[in-house]
Amino acid sequence: MSAGPRPGLRDVPAYVSPQLEVAARLNTNECPHPLPETFFDELAETVRHLPLHRYPDARMTRLREELAAVEGHPAEGIWAANGSNEILTQLLQAYGGPGRRALVFEPTYLLHARLGWLTHTEVEHRELPADFVLGDAQVAAAADVSPNVVLVCSPNNPTGNAQPVAAVRALADALPSSLVIVDEAYVEFAPQTTALSLVAPHPNVAVVRTFSKAFALAGVRLGYALASPEVVDDLQRVRLPYHVSSVTQAAGITALHHRAQALQILGAIRDQRDRIFAELSSVQGMTVFPSDANFVLFVPPGDAVEVWQGLLDRGVLVRDMTGVVPNALRVTAGAEHEVDLFLRALKEVLGR
Ligand code: PMP
Repeated sequence: MSAGPRPGLRDVPAYVSPQLEVAARLNTNECPHPLPETFFDELAETVRHLPLHRYPDARMTRLREELAAVEGHPAEGIWAANGSNEILTQLLQAYGGPGRRALVFEPTYLLHARLGWLTHTEVEHRELPADFVLGDAQVAAAADVSPNVVLVCSPNNPTGNAQPVAAVRALADALPSSLVIVDEAYVEFAPQTTALSLVAPHPNVAVVRTFSKAFALAGVRLGYALASPEVVDDLQRVRLPYHVSSVTQAAGITALHHRAQALQILGAIRDQRDRIFAELSSVQGMTVFPSDANFVLFVPPGDAVEVWQGLLDRGVLVRDMTGVVPNALRVTAGAEHEVDLFLRALKEVLGR
């Protein structure tokens, strides 16, 4: 006899992105440049003195205070977890759940709908318009659905565009008793687009951020929410005890001390993104979408899966997005030499 899992569990594939040893890994929107040596020196010294025989600070006081100082948002409205994925999970555990509904605007980050499934929250899907920009029609659709939770991704993965703050405000106004989650995993690449200014006047808005992208700390697994104190209070009720390790908290605090250096390299990444956009735009038969993030979505001429394989054969791994946007691929704005490789390989694959 073998144990029977939750009904339907084995119909759901595991969520995986290929992790392959190739010359240019441009499929998971990581930062191509590590933080400076001084970050690692300070972190190593800090970890040496951590009382690791004790549980971590469950309230994450220092990390939240340092985030508060950086973000200009009260520490009582800040929460951290192991990656923004865990923040999103906790938000859905607290505001979704059996008999409750979440609304997702497609195409977007696949994990949003998946977290609905994970937390037993019913998921309603509505389409973004052709330019992927959230507008009045989506706000009206949201009012019709009347969900408990609305997920907005801005800048949106995989399309790249930021969503207008006015549209997020309209959602928050139209659904005063729903939680509007704004996933800002990529916002540092377009800081002017943040919805953070909505949080104080709209306690039903929660902004979710991560150290995995612009902060170059995907390996640490640290994300945070900027929300109202009530939302944070609710998250305390669903979190596992001591969920963020002392080492992770120290890494976050140390990273904040190196914030200026981390943000300095963003210009170089944006340059590579704009270079990808410009180069792809000049290819006949190619559709390229403008991006506010560190990646670019494109629809190549010909079959995208064949293009994906052709790129991989040449040592360049991009993300197959054909399940999300028809015939689309997504490429991360990596280091200059990686983008060189990508552009050269793409020319070869397309035979030009
Ligand atoms: N949100 C979006 C839109 C993302 O693309 C990602 C990473 N793929 C995440 C959240 C999760 O990031 P992490 O859990 O590493 O913070």
